[in-house]
Amino acid sequence: MNNVIVLVTATNGLLDAASAELLTIGAGLGPVTAVVAGEAGDALVAEIAQYGPAEVHVVSCPQLTDTLVVAKAALLVDRAAETHAGIVLVASGLEGNEVAALVAAKLGAGLVTDAVAARLVDGELAVDKVVWAGKYTVTATVAAPIAVLSMKANSCTPAFVPAEPAVRQAHFDYTATAPVATVISTEPAAASSRPKLVEAGVVVSGGRGTDGDFAPVEALADALGGAVGASRAAVDAGFAPQPLQVGQTGKTVSPELYVALGISGAIQHIAGMRTARQILAINSDPEAPIHRLADLSVVGDLKTIVPAVVARLG
Ligand SMILES: Cc1cc2nc3c(=O)[nH]c(=O)nc-3n(C[C@H](O)[C@H](O)[C@H](O)COP(=O)(O)OP(=O)(O)OC[C@H]3O[C@@H](n4cnc5c(N)ncnc54)[C@H](O)[C@@H]3O)c2cc1C
Repeated sequence: MNNVIVLVTATNGLLDAASAELLTIGAGLGPVTAVVAGEAGDALVAEIAQYGPAEVHVVSCPQLTDTLVVAKAALLVDRAAETHAGIVLVASGLEGNEVAALVAAKLGAGLVTDAVAARLVDGELAVDKVVWAGKYTVTATVAAPIAVLSMKANSCTPAFVPAEPAVRQAHFDYTATAPVATVISTEPAAASSRPKLVEAGVVVSGGRGTDGDFAPVEALADALGGAVGASRAAVDAGFAPQPLQVGQTGKTVSPELYVALGISGAIQHIAGMRTARQILAINSDPEAPIHRLADLSVVGDLKTIVPAVVARLG
């Protein structure tokens, strides 16, 4: 049986949605050891326990706060060795993918990044990944004895599994064997009541067609309980900050609903949102490519349509 390591993350002491998904995916693959890098209060441990891990390791590692990905990767390598893990799961993203790559290199493991599903078929691990700007889903197997997977958010619905995991407090000291980037200062992200872009069930994105006024985009996102995204043209024009960019050189999102406002639907944008379950486009140009992808297309001016929709939702 595959022992599974899951790197769990939390925000303000609460389990991240992506981690709840990882725990659910892991539970379908083998006994899970949830690894929390740093402190975890009783509330977080109780939240983790809802998703059925066999063990929760809360590992204090002083170096986690003053280096970037390397200490986290070393910690996972340590835990994987300790638990004889066959599978290591992390959330995909800039940091997660780098951690996954370092862990795989160190363990001599097979690596699949940005996977959307993982399951056992006749005891063998099968991993799905969406490729070519979302046009195809391919299934990979891992030939190496250990598999390291980074899983995209919204890959599964977290499921409660009653469990009483063994909770262990452990200590880990990372010793750098090569020069590492050191964090010399941090600035907390601006507080937002909106969900995280890559985890959100609804994403409302604005493009150049907003003409620089993102108020309708934000109003619709808030009315739908969603996150705000942007096209690169909107980001390049200074309408929205870069962390909100969706697409090939931005974030990849897979929400239940993606709303594109004043976005033409360039292939590089579509690469980041094609896997959304439902796509709604509002664009004044009937020939805009986004209409060919959308499940529901509205040809018209977002500046009049969106406020009317928000008023109806309110
Ligand atoms: C290497 C590379 C990487 C890239 N990476 C990304 C990426 O990650 N993400 C990304 O988004 N792009 C990316 N791009 C850029 C991409 O090619 C497009 O230029 C960009 O997506 C266009 O953004 P847009 O749709 O907002 O703007 P436009 O293409 O200018 O479209 C604006 C749309 O708004 C509509 N519109 C105008 N006024 C209104 C109105 N009042 N109401 C409704 N609709 C209106 C117009 O009809 C038009 O269709 C990349 C390009 C390259 C070369």
